[in-house]
Amino acid sequence: ASSPQSDVGARPVLYNKVHVSHPDRVVDADTGMKKIDLIRYYSLVAPFMMPHLKDRPVSVVRAPLGIDGELFFQKHLDAPMEGIALLDRSLDPEHASLIEIVDPMGLLSAAQINVIEFHTWNSRKTAINTPDRMTFDLDPGAGVAWEMTQEATLLMCSLLEQLGLPPFVKTSGGKGMHIVVPLQPLHDWKTVRDISHAIVLHAAAIYPMHFVAKSGAQNRIGKIYIDYLRNGFGATTVAAWSVRARPGLAVSVPVSRDEIAQLHGSAHWTIATIRTRLEQGNTPWNDYSKSAQNLAPVMQLLATRQ
Ligand code: ATP
Ligand code: MN
Ligand code: MN
Repeated sequence: ASSPQSDVGARPVLYNKVHVSHPDRVVDADTGMKKIDLIRYYSLVAPFMMPHLKDRPVSVVRAPLGIDGELFFQKHLDAPMEGIALLDRSLDPEHASLIEIVDPMGLLSAAQINVIEFHTWNSRKTAINTPDRMTFDLDPGAGVAWEMTQEATLLMCSLLEQLGLPPFVKTSGGKGMHIVVPLQPLHDWKTVRDISHAIVLHAAAIYPMHFVAKSGAQNRIGKIYIDYLRNGFGATTVAAWSVRARPGLAVSVPVSRDEIAQLHGSAHWTIATIRTRLEQGNTPWNDYSKSAQNLAPVMQLLATRQ
């Protein structure tokens, strides 16, 4: 299989100053996409992706033998690389240094060592103990049609809005959707996790046909589990614009609520089709920063409802 964007030979190449070994190695047998296609993709989306990575500890998924081989989920690097910083040990004293992608070169250095996915924390290194976002990871159970996932995403958005929490949606590039609420970094991890849990219980109580709050494959048949555990200390969610290490190499993309009805799945865009979407970039999330919330009002609301 040959990939549409590939025009380089088997020799190492320099791409934006990154030395790329094995540029023609096939990463995804389904599409024939190669390592050089990933490098090009990350170089293309770097301007959109960097704001989502800024100041956040990042975990990466590496696929040294392509996505059909073993995948390695890594929070640490053996050695520093260009554009990748090792963060202060005090942020997570029990472990090796966390890492941060500090500039577009870091994305390419990572792709050179076969990183496919980038996952970020909900807090920044500048305020590691007070998350600045809350993530709802909508995970469809067995037998859930895409139409139901679309409907459930919109329901969850209205529910959050009613609670005074502005929702920002992105495709996961997999099966479900991610809804992010920007927060002022005022609350500790336990507070944010407990509130996200209360919100999920509330959602499952008022929309029992759509949602379940209990994890486990058996509990979510025909329904959508809202995973609030993405909000624990050190938990991660795939970053917007990250490629997924799954057949087809889909991408996680910020979307507007109006756009959701037109998507044919969470894997709507892939590294091969993303160009049609690049002009819009992060615009569906333009109001993200100015929407950061204090959780005090929702704490009161939920306390009076239970
Ligand atoms: P989908 O829409 O198909 O569910 P997803 O990215 O949401 O795609 P999940 O399995 O729901 O996939 O995982 C949510 C997040 O949890 C991931 O993006 C990742 O950051 C984190 N995660 C999942 N598996 C692991 C793991 N083995 N180790 C560490 N973190 C993980
Ligand atoms: Mn998920
Ligand atoms: Mn999940």
